[in-house]
Parts: sequence; structure tokens; C-alpha cells
Amino acid sequence: MPFLGAEAAGFPAVKRPVKICGAGPAGMAAALGLARRGRSVAIHERRADVGGRFHGDFQGLENWTTREDVLEVLEGMGMEINFQCTPFSELVLFDPRGREALCRASRPLFYLVRRGNQPGMLDHGLKQQIQALDQVRIHFRSTTALERGDIMAAGPRGGNIIALGYVFETDMADGVFAAVSNELAPHGYAYLLVQGGRGTLAACLFSGFGRGRECLARCVDFFRERAGLRMKHARRFGGVGTAALPGTASPGGVLHVGEAAGFQDALFGFGIRYALMSGCLAAEALRQGGPGDYERLWREKLGGFFRSGAVNRWLFEKGGHAGYRYLVWRVCMARDPRAWLRRFYAPSWLKSAWYRCISLGRET
Ligand SMILES: Cc1cc2nc3c(=O)[nH]c(=O)nc-3n(C[C@H](O)[C@H](O)[C@H](O)COP(=O)(O)OP(=O)(O)OC[C@H]3O[C@@H](n4cnc5c(N)ncnc54)[C@H](O)[C@@H]3O)c2cc1C
Repeated sequence: MPFLGAEAAGFPAVKRPVKICGAGPAGMAAALGLARRGRSVAIHERRADVGGRFHGDFQGLENWTTREDVLEVLEGMGMEINFQCTPFSELVLFDPRGREALCRASRPLFYLVRRGNQPGMLDHGLKQQIQALDQVRIHFRSTTALERGDIMAAGPRGGNIIALGYVFETDMADGVFAAVSNELAPHGYAYLLVQGGRGTLAACLFSGFGRGRECLARCVDFFRERAGLRMKHARRFGGVGTAALPGTASPGGVLHVGEAAGFQDALFGFGIRYALMSGCLAAEALRQGGPGDYERLWREKLGGFFRSGAVNRWLFEKGGHAGYRYLVWRVCMARDPRAWLRRFYAPSWLKSAWYRCISLGRET
């Protein structure tokens, strides 16, 4: 019977392999979900390997939007945690005046993962899970035209966020530091992540992109002075991101997942979790019927978080340095910072109404 639904939705009655464009977290999560539901999948990745957009840099898998731990959420979606994933329950935050505050939670605020194609990295781990399944084939150095019922997972479509930074070796102790200030990163933030003798430092800019290099140099000086930054064998990296709530995530019947759909936390650019979740939702939708189900699913499960993220970003930008200071002190003073962040990110009717007002404001 589900087949009737698929045909009615305009899907071919013969289940050809689903084509996926892009082997990032979103595309690989979709492939895993489809294969586990018995569908054959062909992933086309334009680079020579997975994780080619990244440089072994650390990224944070956020762990505050649900009460349940993100690793349990991922396992619940059928993913194995076969990559290095280090919990951090503490971070040092700097406000725009350079004042330091410790944010300490009783459970991990996020997990540090590394991005790239080396063993232990997130992308490598997902590739291993996929390669263990007969139903999935990955074609590297390949791209493809997509048809109705296929999945677009090619990552950022443009870039309304840019990050510039360094990956390096260090003798510093493990730690996570972040600073909010328009001098270091206009409308964004700077971060320094150290774990196991490796480090990542970046300026994550949401505006003033022409000042990227200058901001990065300031971030290096800032973290040298305030966090004792010591870098060896430093290598520069850079990347872009897209955070924009789409009108539809299935144009022409092609299911767009992850950043290809603009799915990312608009406040701070946490995109991994939404990439993995939207990939799983696309797989679920294809089992149920198609693009209509995907539209329903992502709006139901993720839409509220994106609207909340967009409102949080609007507030952050309007608040300027005073607002940044408030955010730093508010989260650090919370009895349970993880719960505070969960409430801050939570969908609500107020955030939805606010979102409608700011999007109308943008259209006029
Ligand atoms: C510097 C930086 C730091 C970040 N830090 C964090 C962080 O700390 N926490 C967090 O949650 N998020 C972070 N993000 C965002 C996060 O990395 C992304 O949101 C996430 O990787 C999106 O996954 P994706 O699968 O949608 O896209 P991607 O990871 O970009 O994967 C897309 C894949 O598609 C391939 N591709 C592109 N075009 C084609 C084509 N035409 N045909 C075939 N293949 C194609 C690409 O080569 C790539 O492998 C960061 C991003 C950057 C750039």
C-alpha cells in the first residue's frame, strides 16, 4: 500500500536507486536512513573523498537543543558513534570588553568532533558506516543531475557566514574559549578549541566579510593574551556557511537537506546536527511517500528551531555589544546553562510570531 502513496505523489513505481548529490553529514545520514529502510542509494561526491571541505578542524556538535543527549538522539536515528567525540561541559566566554566568565554545566554542552577524511573524524566515520552497507555506493569525483525523489546534499549554496582560522598543534591544556565582539568577528564570534595537543582557532563572521584577515589577526592576538594561545605548525583554513530558512526544501520534488536547504542555526552557525537530522527526515519521507512528507516532517521537527534561531540572530545583531554582554553573563550565571540554552533555542509561538514580523520587515 505505501506504493500507492508514492505513485500518487508522482514517484516511479519501480524503486530505482535514490541519487544523492554530496557526501557530507546530511547526504550520508540520508543514505544510511534509506539503506536501513531497504532502498539502494548512489551518492555522488564531487571531491576525491569525504570531508574535503574541511581541514581536520574541530567543530562542536551542540548538545543543548534537546533534553536528551545528542549522541542518544543520533543513535536513535540509526547512527553509530564511530568517530572521536569529546564531551565538553565547560567553556570560557569573553564579552566585548574582554571580561572573562566561566560557563559550567553538569552535562556536556557540546561534543568536539573533527572534520575531514582521516580515521576518527566525523566524515570518515560516517563513510565507514555507509561502506559497510551493500545498498549504498559512493562515486567520488562525480556529480549528477537529480530527478524527483532524489536528494540534494551539496552543502552551502552561497554564504552568509564565513569562518577563517588556523588548525595547529599545541602544548596547551584542553579547553574551549569563545569571544563575542564586533572587533574580533562582526556580528559573530571567535573561538579557540584545544584538545589532545591539537587546536582550532577561528573568526566566524556574519557581516563585514572584507575584514576577515584583519579580524583573524586580532583573534590570534586576543587569544594569545587572554588564553595563552601557542600554535605550532599552524595551517590556515576558511569556509562559508548558509543559514536561511527556505520557502520550500523540495523544489521540483528534489529533497534538499543540510546546508543545501539553508538548514543551520542562524545564531551561531551550528549546522552538523541539523544536517544529520534533515538527512534522516528525507530518508523517512521517501519511505512514506515523497516531497510532501518531507515538507511536513522538516517543518514539524526542525522549522520551529530555525525560526527561533533567526529571531535569536536578529536580537543578537540589534543588541550590539550591550546585547552580547547580556548573553555572556546570562548564560554563565544560569544554574543550568544547558537548560537555559535549550529554552533560548526552543520553538515557541512568540518566536514564530516574531519571526513573521522580521521576515515581513525584510521583504518590504
Ligand atoms: C569553518 C567552519 C566551522 C564550522 N563549525 C561548526 C561547528 O562548530 N558546529 C556545527 O554544528 N557546525 C559547524 N559548521 C557548519 C557545518 O560544518 C555544516 O553545517 C555541515 O557540514 C553541513 O553539512 P552538509 O552535509 O549539509 O554539507 P557539507 O558538509 O558541506 O557537505 C556537502 C558535500 O557535498 C559536496 N558537493 C558540493 N557540491 C557538489 C556537487 N555539485 N556534486 C557532488 N557533490 C557536491 C561537497 O564536496 C561536500 O562534501 C562549520 C562550518 C565551517 C565552514
